[in-house]
Amino acid sequence: MNKTTEYKNNLTLALKQLNQQFSDLSMVACAWIQTIINIINDSVIVLDTNYTILMVNQTTINLLGYSEKELVNKSILNILYQNSDDVSIIENSSKKTIESAYFRKNNQEVEVLLSSQLIYSEDQEIMAIICIAQDISQEKRIEKLIKENERKLYYDLRHDKLTGLPNRKLFIEELETSLEKAQEDKSFCFTVLILDLDQFKLINNSYGHLMGDNLLIQMGERLKTYLHEQDILARLGGDEFGIILNHLGNLDHTLEIVDLIKKGFALPFQLNGHEVYSSASIGITISDTKYQKFGDILRDTGAALNQAKIKDKASYTIFRQEMYVEAVNRLELDNDLRRAIERQEFELTYQPIVELNTQKVIGFEALIRWQHPKKGLINPGKFIPIAEETGLIIPLSNWILNQGCQQMCEWQKLSDSYQELIISINLSVKQFSENNLVEEIINTLQNSGMNKNCLKLEITESCIIKNTEEVCSILNQLKALGINLSMDDFGTGYSSLSYLHRFPFDTLKIDRSFIKDMSQSIDKLRLTQTIIHLANDFGMEVIAEGIETKKQWEQLKQLGCSYGQGYYFAQPLTAEEVEKIILKGNNPLII
Ligand code: C2E
Ligand code: MG
Ligand code: MG
Repeated sequence: MNKTTEYKNNLTLALKQLNQQFSDLSMVACAWIQTIINIINDSVIVLDTNYTILMVNQTTINLLGYSEKELVNKSILNILYQNSDDVSIIENSSKKTIESAYFRKNNQEVEVLLSSQLIYSEDQEIMAIICIAQDISQEKRIEKLIKENERKLYYDLRHDKLTGLPNRKLFIEELETSLEKAQEDKSFCFTVLILDLDQFKLINNSYGHLMGDNLLIQMGERLKTYLHEQDILARLGGDEFGIILNHLGNLDHTLEIVDLIKKGFALPFQLNGHEVYSSASIGITISDTKYQKFGDILRDTGAALNQAKIKDKASYTIFRQEMYVEAVNRLELDNDLRRAIERQEFELTYQPIVELNTQKVIGFEALIRWQHPKKGLINPGKFIPIAEETGLIIPLSNWILNQGCQQMCEWQKLSDSYQELIISINLSVKQFSENNLVEEIINTLQNSGMNKNCLKLEITESCIIKNTEEVCSILNQLKALGINLSMDDFGTGYSSLSYLHRFPFDTLKIDRSFIKDMSQSIDKLRLTQTIIHLANDFGMEVIAEGIETKKQWEQLKQLGCSYGQGYYFAQPLTAEEVEKIILKGNNPLII
């Protein structure tokens, strides 16, 4: 075999094809082309004008898994990803690089960046097409991964991990969407509800956080069942859920939903075999054209929620404009309250408690006053609930206890005949949630040097109803120490004398609403009489609150009530006024 024949035999199939197709291309030129395209790292495929493959480079063979023989002389359409049978991709790729895909021999898709070059003859006719494809499958995979991560991140940022519900961020975004819609379409109305679970902390503390979490999940699921798919349910954080009623956000429908929630929450939740009951307070704002910003709606719904929480457990409140003013006032008071203790703006006043038959003063009830630097005198009814909400009630109550006991000790020292005077101090329900209440009281008594028997603690009815077991155990400990206990404002709550018997009270204070109505209503008079008799039967002393007239005083004496307190005898007095009275008279002190 001569050298030329040998050379020709060694030529690849593709070269022969090329040489055959373009007779004016020499074999050497064809071999050069082959060598050059084999160096290229991208896939190179040479086509004739019918899209038949004339030549491929080594990268194409490696990329697609076909042998050269399997590719050459076949149509590129066998391996090119297409939406339809046309070959527009190749034509387009001669104008600009486009993303497309080849199919491997194993049918796997490989994404490529495709560009093509048209080869013209001397008389400007297309002779061949060179397709250059860069494998971008790796980049695409990374891009997909990033996109998936971004999508996941986007989702995670807007959802609550525990319940899977939208979180506050998404809730706000949805609220903004509803607001925009309401501004564009005047007939669209939506409602925002914020639910705050009552006593969730108690559930967490008694059953543990895992069970608490479980309860939140179940609540989310239960709430979802009351809503339409256009409505939004979100966990805003802690034990707070938010709802946007987009579907029928009018008042009637809102009240129907509130009713469903209340009825639904009246059924128990199953927590590891325990049946747990929970309720929620609900603040509601119905959308209004005046709302431009989501923050205003949230502020108003929050104000309504605060009102609902003050009312009672499981109640709801719809926002009214006056609440905004109240909320701002409360916020201001809250800020000022924080500084009031250190600025010594509080003062205790003392209202005498007298024996009705003799008018002898047997003790004083300490009643706190706040001398606000700008607003003047503020009564406890205004700031105690705020202090309770913010937790400031604890340091404030400790101050009251200390101050009251020290003061009483000083008065007792003025003369031997005042040794028996009793100081009554009001306790807040929040103090019962503190672990060291009993310890604090013991310390105060020790520091002041006052006799334990001279301290009487007043506890309201609502306080014992809220955490019966806990409060009962603390009261028993206090009783064992020799401290007197008084049930305050009796008759304003769930008054039940038989219930009262379970607690170690020495004294019962009949609420002033009974005393006020006694002279006009025979029913109230009879009720007052029954309370006095039953309390006496249980061995409890009775103090009538709010005696304002001589007639009331006379009536109460006749009914067998031993003690009383009220403006008829004396208003709450300053410490100086009490001291003057003590210094003036011998015991019995007569006002
Ligand atoms: P409370 O313990 O039932 O106190 C009696 C309230 O009735 C006092 O109101 C007193 O000024 C008022 N009062 C007394 N006699 C009459 C009367 O004849 N007519 C009328 N209309 N009212 C009379 P105040 O001082 O405004 O206190 C209101 C409530 O605030 C108290 O009710 C008590 O629950 C709470 N509070 C007052 N001081 C303290 C305190 O130091 N600590 C705590 N935790 N609560 C306190
Ligand atoms: Mg009281
Ligand atoms: Mg009272």
